[in-house]
Amino acid sequence: MYQLIFLGAPGAGKGKQAEIFAQNNKLANISTGVMLRNEIASGSALGLELKPIIETGALVSDELVISLIEHRLTQIDCQKGYIFDGFPRTIQQAEELEKFFIKQKIKLPLVVMFDISDENLLARLENRRNSDEHRADDAVEVQKNRLQIYREQTVPLIDYYKQKGQLVRVDANADVEVVQQRLVDVLNVANNS
Ligand code: AMP
Repeated sequence: MYQLIFLGAPGAGKGKQAEIFAQNNKLANISTGVMLRNEIASGSALGLELKPIIETGALVSDELVISLIEHRLTQIDCQKGYIFDGFPRTIQQAEELEKFFIKQKIKLPLVVMFDISDENLLARLENRRNSDEHRADDAVEVQKNRLQIYREQTVPLIDYYKQKGQLVRVDANADVEVVQQRLVDVLNVANNS
């Protein structure tokens, strides 16, 4: 059973890696970004509140994402394991998640950090802007903001999880298939040690 957290800059390719790994291993692929965008698309009152936050690249409140996650984990498809993509994004979210896991007596997750060079990151973000799948928050200024927020709020999680012995790293400077194979190899080693 896998409980995984995928960590990395916006544009590092962790969403794609999560999609493939979850499908191959029958895991629930839990992306808070997708959940929040679905909420907006539903036209709910909450969605209306979230829209301007997400469109500027800011983070939504820790309380909201924690409650979304706690609810999501009660669903049946999570029983065989899951991947968190884009969560936790702040130290507070990580601490709340840990408390929740300890309370529920769930094994603490392994955290996979997808490392990517600045050069490759900028190239991927540009590709994403020009692709058919681009999102409202892919505009240049918003991407810059998201990257800055990532550096300020999410990068500290790397040390946080390293100190707890939960971190493994994957070099994400390669094609999707190559990175996926590296991920499989790293997890095999981690699970056998
Ligand atoms: P993503 O699809 O992971 O890039 O997320 C898109 C946007 O959703 C982010 O820029 C944030 O506005 C919001 N978001 C997603 N996950 C979180 C989270 N864990 N905490 C706060 N905001 C989030």
